[in-house]
Amino acid sequence: MIKKEMSKKIIIVGSGNAALTAGIAALEKGAKVLAIEKGNKYLSGGNTKYTAGAMRFSYNNGDELLPLIRDVNDIRLKKTEFGSYTKNKFKEDLLSFNEGNPLTKEQEILVDNSYETICWLASHNVKFEPIYNRQSFKKGDKFIFWGGLTLASENEGVGLFEQELKSFFSLGGEIEYENPVTNLMMDNDKVVGVQTKKDKYYSDSVILASGGFEANEDMRVRYLGENWRFAKVRGTPNNTGDGLKMALDIGALENGYYQSCHATPMDLYMKNYGNLDLEPIERKKYRKICYFLGIMINANGKRFLDEGKNFRNYTYAQYGAKVLEQPGHLAWQVFDNKVKDLLYDEYFFKDASFVEADSLKELISKMDGVDITATYNTIRNYNKSCKSNNSFDPTKLDNKSTIGLDLPKSNWAQSIEEPPFRAYPVTGGITFTYGGLKVSSKCNVLQKNGDIIKGLFACGEIVGGVFLNGYPGGSGLTSGAVFGRIAGYGSVSSI
Ligand SMILES: Cc1cc2nc3c(=O)[nH]c(=O)nc-3n(C[C@H](O)[C@H](O)[C@H](O)COP(=O)(O)OP(=O)(O)OC[C@H]3O[C@@H](n4cnc5c(N)ncnc54)[C@H](O)[C@@H]3O)c2cc1C
Repeated sequence: MIKKEMSKKIIIVGSGNAALTAGIAALEKGAKVLAIEKGNKYLSGGNTKYTAGAMRFSYNNGDELLPLIRDVNDIRLKKTEFGSYTKNKFKEDLLSFNEGNPLTKEQEILVDNSYETICWLASHNVKFEPIYNRQSFKKGDKFIFWGGLTLASENEGVGLFEQELKSFFSLGGEIEYENPVTNLMMDNDKVVGVQTKKDKYYSDSVILASGGFEANEDMRVRYLGENWRFAKVRGTPNNTGDGLKMALDIGALENGYYQSCHATPMDLYMKNYGNLDLEPIERKKYRKICYFLGIMINANGKRFLDEGKNFRNYTYAQYGAKVLEQPGHLAWQVFDNKVKDLLYDEYFFKDASFVEADSLKELISKMDGVDITATYNTIRNYNKSCKSNNSFDPTKLDNKSTIGLDLPKSNWAQSIEEPPFRAYPVTGGITFTYGGLKVSSKCNVLQKNGDIIKGLFACGEIVGGVFLNGYPGGSGLTSGAVFGRIAGYGSVSSI
């Protein structure tokens, strides 16, 4: 433990999950920590506050989750099957998005430190609760969890932020709001502080935790393509790639898939950003990810993806991009009455956009912008192909696949024939970007020749190479905490 009188000054750029975990770790080691945040108090916490607070990590059995759960007296726990989510399974899940590439070093670090890091958070009184409403289905009187994702912070992302903030402040951390960092200050080859809109701040190390570039339209178009001009931004307006640009300006090495990002089907009529003022249950109101219970149809009246390819945890982050690629950057999700009770709450919020009818013909006539005949034929052909005798079971990959379609629906393929019918218009909403900086195993930012940039660390969305061409849900916060903790420790020990 470094003694207080020797304590070093660490500046952290940002105040989200990655920044706060880095701060807590550095404070634990005796450093003096100042986080400098672009947003005001309301927008501090960045994308972290917009999340569901769900965190993916490896565990071997339900008992390993108990020390992480705030309310261990919840009577449902006795009737809950959490299963297991081993390191190998987490690695397999990441590999499935790597397009044949092996696991990256960053992915190994993420998985190998995931459980330990969540336990460390719990030791700082950041606690969790099982995600009964979205990650389990009831079978008899049992709650069966599926998809490897089991816990979220109490009160979702805002709750996670508040718990981490409390720990950060209680250890002596400080935050300056409304003070965007504009440049990194150098003395020869070492980063010695930051220049902000208001002042210069000197420090022994700087940790960049300023998120990705999802809210920067020009960068989206440059790196991801023209379609991304039209993407709705699901999180903060402040993640405009500032930290990334500052680091690249002083010769940092790019890493990861700049051409890919996390994007989700969202209500066509949602506004950019927003929703922080709502209750947690309502904050996700524009997200529309129950396509696995029905089908998605584009303006040409065609299906364009396998809605049942895998659990939605493994598809929702990719399917927003697929929707954006469609004519008019939109699609319709179509369901019948059989699955109505399984649709998530957000499908029933009073201002959710949808049309409803008692016949398919009437429904389609209400679906603005679609080719009516083609849509009708697509649904009819889809219904004819739902011939599998397997039982429908949303708690597992049930192999209830369409039969005979060129583009199958591989699981949960039930015909759409029981009125009333509903269709929801969706577009693609960008969540965060995958391309970022290359860091060492201690989270030092590397320069193009592979050497570290002295005095500079990075963690969170700004780190590249963690997610390549896809994302198992709930991994972003874990990544932020894993790399945040390492960066916090690294920034102190390297001095
Ligand atoms: C709607 C939504 C739902 C999500 N749900 C989940 C989920 O349930 N589970 C999960 O794992 N992940 C989820 N994610 C992804 C998750 O939000 C991110 O992976 C994670 O929050 C990133 O943390 P971070 O600390 O790197 O960035 P952020 O939390 O975005 O923090 C970055 C901070 O840097 C600040 N900043 C930017 N530029 C500057 C500057 N120049 N100077 C000073 N400060 C600056 C920003 O204002 C912001 O406060 C979700 C994202 C969204 C948008």
